[in-house]
Amino acid sequence: MTDVLIIGAGAAGLMCAIAAGRRGRSVVVLERGERIGAKILISGGGRCNFTNIHAGPDNYLSSNPEFCRSALARYRPDNFIALVEQHGIPYHEKKLGQLFCDHSSRDIVEMLRKECDEAGVKIETRAEVIAVRRESGDAHFVVESKSGTFETKRLVIATGGLSLPKLGATNFAYRIAKQFGMAVIPARAGLVPFTFSGKSLEMCRTLSGISAACSVQVETSLVKKKAVAFSEHFLFTHRGLSGPAMLQASSYWQPPTELRVNLFPTGDARAWLEENRGSRMRLDTLLARRLTERFAVAWTAELAPLRPICDYSSEQLDAIAGRLENWTLQPAGTEGYATAEVTVGGIDTRELHSKTMEARKIPGLHFIGEAVDVTGWLGGYNFQWAWASGHACGEAV
Ligand SMILES: Cc1cc2nc3c(=O)[nH]c(=O)nc-3n(C[C@H](O)[C@H](O)[C@H](O)COP(=O)(O)OP(=O)(O)OC[C@H]3O[C@@H](n4cnc5c(N)ncnc54)[C@H](O)[C@@H]3O)c2cc1C
Repeated sequence: MTDVLIIGAGAAGLMCAIAAGRRGRSVVVLERGERIGAKILISGGGRCNFTNIHAGPDNYLSSNPEFCRSALARYRPDNFIALVEQHGIPYHEKKLGQLFCDHSSRDIVEMLRKECDEAGVKIETRAEVIAVRRESGDAHFVVESKSGTFETKRLVIATGGLSLPKLGATNFAYRIAKQFGMAVIPARAGLVPFTFSGKSLEMCRTLSGISAACSVQVETSLVKKKAVAFSEHFLFTHRGLSGPAMLQASSYWQPPTELRVNLFPTGDARAWLEENRGSRMRLDTLLARRLTERFAVAWTAELAPLRPICDYSSEQLDAIAGRLENWTLQPAGTEGYATAEVTVGGIDTRELHSKTMEARKIPGLHFIGEAVDVTGWLGGYNFQWAWASGHACGEAV
């Protein structure tokens, strides 16, 4: 019988294995895929945005927002950065505290593999787990997998969420939780592009490939203050809107809420129009300076006939400025799990001890990483949660 059996060799499972192995526990990791760390390899455009130096509880979405505090405080971005430096992996900050590998995500996977080897962790790939049962007599778990049956005192579920089914995402964690009578917060796609229909979709298609700065605000019942806003770029796609600002907003979006887009995130649109009031430039030509030419033409189409800026009244300029700062858009939906970076929702954290990730009702059963109802912002926060929750669990098992 092994001390610790971890299902899933992603970021969370591998970190948990390293922490438990270093403490002298016998550890086996079972992974259904052919290789470990599949999501790490494709993350950050192949350069893995492995953490964010600003990561803290406020950067996470959960129906129990305090839960992530303990694990995040005990394994910080600095701890992971120290590991990366110890392995001589070159990295850089891209923007907003986001740390990326200089070369390749493979560096991170190799680092985790070496750490597992040194900690005596045994990893089996092509070992999909089919079923789990608990032997109540001596309270251990029996795990049936495609590479045989295993018995363990501590079982860690690190099988992630539903995003990117083509990479092998499964609902395994939710099934196990339900099997043991634990609550699961309904899952949905997060950090995912929005889709549109009708005229908005036509506009997105016409402008596909164009990006602009914005601040996007979305009203949501998911946070206490009832609204969130993200200042970043957005991108028109042939299906709708993407780019960091929209991906961030998507995690909080609840249909049929509108998006409120401020196209003047770092200034005052009315003051800018006033500064240019003496100009004979047409409105779309002036706006092209801020929004690019094609975007300005499409955005002003509804304001036709367009006139030189000096021909608009103060009231009309007020209205144009209001629309620039509060452009409302109604998404039809999102692209769903096929392109989502994360899954929002998952194992209800009220079912878990925040220090150990152990199920309150089922001693010896733990859940970590994206399977749990803790979802990070875009920018390295999701890996930091995987490292922190994995580490907290590995220290406890
Ligand atoms: C395209 C993309 C890019 C991303 N880029 C970033 C980024 O740059 N920075 C960032 O912070 N986050 C990023 N993320 C999010 C991040 O990858 C995840 O939050 C993180 O990988 C979750 O780790 P995890 O270990 O919980 O789950 P996963 O990495 O999903 O690992 C779960 C593992 O469990 C295995 N498994 C599932 N079911 C079974 C079973 N029944 N038996 C055995 N094994 C099983 C799966 O094959 C998988 O290997 C990105 C996500 C995507 C999709």
